[in-house]
Amino acid sequence: MTDQEQQWAQRAVRQFMESWQRSGLSHIKHIEPAPVAPTPSVNVVGTPVPETKTPLQTRPVEAVSPPERMPVSVGEPAAEIIAATIEPRKEMSVPRTTKSKLSKADRQAQLDIVAEEVSQCQKCPELASTRTQTVFGVGNPSAKIMFIGEAPGADEDKQGEPFVGRAGKLLDKIIEACQMKRSEIYIANILRCRPPGNRNPTDQEAANCRGFLDSQIEIVDPDYIVCWGSVAAKNLLHSEMPIGKMRGQFYEYGRAKVVCTYHPSYLLRNPSAKKNVWDDMIFLFQDMGIDLKATQN
Ligand code: URA
Repeated sequence: MTDQEQQWAQRAVRQFMESWQRSGLSHIKHIEPAPVAPTPSVNVVGTPVPETKTPLQTRPVEAVSPPERMPVSVGEPAAEIIAATIEPRKEMSVPRTTKSKLSKADRQAQLDIVAEEVSQCQKCPELASTRTQTVFGVGNPSAKIMFIGEAPGADEDKQGEPFVGRAGKLLDKIIEACQMKRSEIYIANILRCRPPGNRNPTDQEAANCRGFLDSQIEIVDPDYIVCWGSVAAKNLLHSEMPIGKMRGQFYEYGRAKVVCTYHPSYLLRNPSAKKNVWDDMIFLFQDMGIDLKATQN
């Protein structure tokens, strides 16, 4: 390895650990990588990142989302709540601009580390004391599409997997209609613990869990994210727009294109909205070069 490659590798490790520190992963917090001289920007696998003019790099990120980018130290109070904006935010706390080159096995190994951290989490005392277990996420660690729901319900809390109850069964049917398998997608939620009585997550709970979600997004590095329901859309994009108004267009979250649609639980109560969700799936898959309308016949 040349000196420069060594510097890039050190820088890569440091950047990756910093991103995990932002996620509140305490077991890495105390590791201080050796100081390195200024080098070109690199991604987590040490490949130089070409300078681009994307908003993520040209805008001062600190001015956009300071709470998420500040390193979190052990024992620090929970993450600050990020103010919602009228318009959905495109900036993300994970400044990824290039596709991850990590292998599937490496991604799974990293997800396992985060999941272990999540299983010990006590940031939300009420949720930590009422949960049966944490519900981290499931699916393909190199998925092209990531689904984000709201929070585990009773079934998920019991089984430790997202979307396994009634809403999950409907989600499975939607996935099947899209000619995909559940195992091809990565599925997570805004929260990793069940809120008692299935109440909506509080802003503080969502903020406490955000570092874990961002770690999952950073590791899986999907091309597309689907926000199922207003809680997912509002929290991922910090938007107060009603879900009906967020549909039908792409938002950006780092490298991923985001589609927002109705939650499967809403569809169980309002079956007529299934058509809207199907339209949203057609819209998403069209962008991937797949004509779902053609597969219907
Ligand atoms: N609803 C969600 O939003 N997530 C789940 O995991 C289950 C139901």
